Amino acid sequence: MDKIKIVIAGPRGRMGREAVQLVLNTGHFALQAVVDHKFEGKMLSDLDGFTGADVPIYTDLANCLEQTEADVLIDLTTPEAGMHHARTALSYGVRPVVGTTGFSKEDLKELEVTCREKEKGCIIAPNFALGAVLMMKFSQMAARYFSDVEIIELHHDQKLDAPSGTAVKTAEMMAEAREAKEQGHPDEKETLAGARGADYEGMRIHSVRLPGLIAHQQVMFGSDGQTLSIRHDSYNRASFMSGVKLAVETVMKADLFVYGLENIME
Ligand code: NAP
Repeated sequence: MDKIKIVIAGPRGRMGREAVQLVLNTGHFALQAVVDHKFEGKMLSDLDGFTGADVPIYTDLANCLEQTEADVLIDLTTPEAGMHHARTALSYGVRPVVGTTGFSKEDLKELEVTCREKEKGCIIAPNFALGAVLMMKFSQMAARYFSDVEIIELHHDQKLDAPSGTAVKTAEMMAEAREAKEQGHPDEKETLAGARGADYEGMRIHSVRLPGLIAHQQVMFGSDGQTLSIRHDSYNRASFMSGVKLAVETVMKADLFVYGLENIME
């Protein structure tokens, strides 16, 4: 079997470092190059912590893809860079696997249309942790029976977007299974703005940001005399890598846009 040729954007980041190790340690993956916004002309192995990663660093993805054979781009950067990279990769016929969160609905729509035009797969996964994907699926199932639900997502304090992509995706999946409903007392008033969290079709989403946390989410349902809590915790970033591997393998066979690993996990 030919190796899957991979470019990683954001290799020095917390997720990017794990992804570099995943690709280097997976027999049927080949790391071809990386894209950073600095260190043009250097090799990745010149940087601390990347012994053995003898691939060039580019600061521009288009330039990288002009000079590099690649099947898949893994992006783990920022929402602006991630969208630019996904667009550029597709324009070169390279399949994006994007873990970067914070894309708008318009961004997702644009990528879906481009994938159709190019007949190339693209996987956007707000959460690569397979346990988190199951948490979302179980929550969608529970939402059919419990109409009142709040999401509490908890992340490290360096996270840029709130609520998390996973929280939004969970709310979207539950919205498919439940009638929209204004929750809480109809006359409730916030005496401190934001106390009741963000509102998604009546479901409330609360974002906690603290050092020490990685990525955690609790979906809490309530009805007369009972509550049901579904919780997932990622304790380190290695927890995301089995999902990255699955996404890379799957995107090679896909000609479609996929948003969320739940759509490729049966
Ligand atoms: P991080 O540690 O801040 O890493 C981001 C990296 O991207 C940094 O090295 C940054 O460099 C680099 N970068 C910024 N702009 C760039 C550009 N234009 N081109 C290339 N590299 C660029 O963040 P992280 O924790 O790894 O998270 C990265 C993204 O993944 C975030 O959107 C986060 O929410 C998401 N995430 C997703 C999952 C999932 O399962 N899908 C899990 C965790 C995190 P500088 O530091 O020099 O700016």
